[in-house]
Amino acid sequence: MDSDTLQVFQSELTCSICMNCFLDPVTIDCGHSFCRPCLSLCWEEGQTPRSCPECRGISERPHFKTNIVLKRLSSLTRQARADHDHHSEEQICETHQEARGLFCEADQTLLCGPCSERPEHAAHSHSPIHRAAEESREKLLTRIGSLWKMREEMKISMNQETEKKKMVHLRKVMIKLEYQRMLLLLREEEQLHLEALEREAKEICLQLIESVFRMTQQRESLKEMCRELTEMCHKPDTELLQVRKEGPSSERETLF
Ligand SMILES: [Zn+2]
Ligand SMILES: [Zn+2]
Ligand SMILES: [Zn+2]
Ligand SMILES: [Zn+2]
Repeated sequence: MDSDTLQVFQSELTCSICMNCFLDPVTIDCGHSFCRPCLSLCWEEGQTPRSCPECRGISERPHFKTNIVLKRLSSLTRQARADHDHHSEEQICETHQEARGLFCEADQTLLCGPCSERPEHAAHSHSPIHRAAEESREKLLTRIGSLWKMREEMKISMNQETEKKKMVHLRKVMIKLEYQRMLLLLREEEQLHLEALEREAKEICLQLIESVFRMTQQRESLKEMCRELTEMCHKPDTELLQVRKEGPSSERETLF
């Protein structure tokens, strides 16, 4: 790839947030693409609606699949850029005067071809710098992904805690209301009870008046009877006996 073509590719595959070649690119609803980590940071505080950092278009979904074609093209462009740059500033092995184009994972060092064949490296796996770097990028991206996931899960449990607090408050309010209702019911019941008692008292009072009246009348007639009998006692013998025979008070005697 010549320098100009590389330039064109590079500018087409640049994330407008970080201004670097795409890493794990995603294409959002409006069609614009960004590195997943850049977009995650951009939408970090869960602002809604989520708008495109480039055109402000609204994206309904918070998660997107990796744009595989863009990802491959970006990786190829990174490699082309690296090859291009390495030619001018690549590390040369002082012993063999060759480019150090291999990465030794075990030693975390860069090696030239002949160096990588030395006995101390016999058991190691060596890969071209670019591939090693892309693998390392992938690992970092996975780690970033799991960190975001962890963060999201923490938010969920934070929300749950807040929910719990809200529930406790709600229960407090409900308990207060329930007791207020019960107090009201008790007061009503008390009122009804007192009213019933009041009616009963009135009834008793009426009965009392009635029976007092009745007894007064009876006492009055008893007195009357006493007077009549006393009068009778004072009558002469024959009259007394005659009256008794006729029995003028026989009706009254039934009163006893
Ligand atoms: Zn980016
Ligand atoms: Zn957009
Ligand atoms: Zn060497
Ligand atoms: Zn090695």
